[in-house]
Amino acid sequence: MALDPTSIPAMAADYATKSPQETLALAFREFGGDVAISFSGAEDVVLIDMATKLGIEPRVFTLDTGRLHAETYRFLDRVASHYRVDIDVMFPQSAAVQALVRAKGLFSFYKDGHKECCGIRKVEPLVRALKPLGAWITGQRRDQSPGTRTAVPVVQLDRTFGTPDRPLVKFNPLSEWSSRQVWDYIRLHDVPFNELHARGFISIGCEPCTRPTLPGQHERAGRWWWEEETRKECGLHAGNVG
Ligand code: SF4
Repeated sequence: MALDPTSIPAMAADYATKSPQETLALAFREFGGDVAISFSGAEDVVLIDMATKLGIEPRVFTLDTGRLHAETYRFLDRVASHYRVDIDVMFPQSAAVQALVRAKGLFSFYKDGHKECCGIRKVEPLVRALKPLGAWITGQRRDQSPGTRTAVPVVQLDRTFGTPDRPLVKFNPLSEWSSRQVWDYIRLHDVPFNELHARGFISIGCEPCTRPTLPGQHERAGRWWWEEETRKECGLHAGNVG
C-alpha cells in the first residue's frame, strides 16, 4: 500500500478542512491506477466530474444488482458517454441469485430484511471489484443518514473489506459536504443526474427498495423504509453501522 496505515487518522483530520478536489488528487497521487471511484449516485458523478477536471482519467466501477430502475441504467450509460469513461459494471453471481430466488422468491427482503439479497447482489460483487485495488473512493457524506454516516471521515482504513495483510484505504472526499453543496455543484457544472431525482427520489438504490421521500423526511428515508433507521446500510459501508 502506498500510504502508511498509521498516518491515516492524522491525514483524515488534516484533509477534513481541504476541498474534495484536494482529497481526490491525494488519492490518485498515492494510488494511481490502484484506486477507483465506486459509482451509483449523484455524489459519485460529482467526483467523476472533479477528477476529469483535474486531468485524471479515473478508474470507475458500479454494481448492477439486476434490480435497478430503467432510469438508473440510462443514467449509467449517459455518465459513461458524457465523461468518455469506461465504467466497469460488476454483476452478481448468477448461481447465488438463482438459489435465493428459488428458495425465497423475488421479494424476500420485505419479509426477512435486505441483508441477504444485498449480500448476494451488492456485497459479493463489491468484494470482487475491490480485490485488485489498494483504495476506493466513495460519495458518502456525513449528513446523509442520521443513524449510520455521521462519523464518516474524509479518509479511513477500510476495516470491512481490507485485512491486515491487504490493507485497503477508503476515501470519502465529500464527507464534509451537504446535499446543498452537491446539488449546487451539479447545477453549476451541468453534471448529468438520474432523472428520478426530478420525481421526488433523493437517495436511489434498487427499484423495489427505494421510494420517493416526503417533504421534511431525511434523504435516506426512502431506502428500505420498512426497516429501522440505524440498519440502513446495504453492506457496502457496513463499517458505518455500529
Ligand atoms: S437494495 Fe433491495 S433489491 Fe437491491 S440488493 Fe438490496 S435487498 Fe436486493
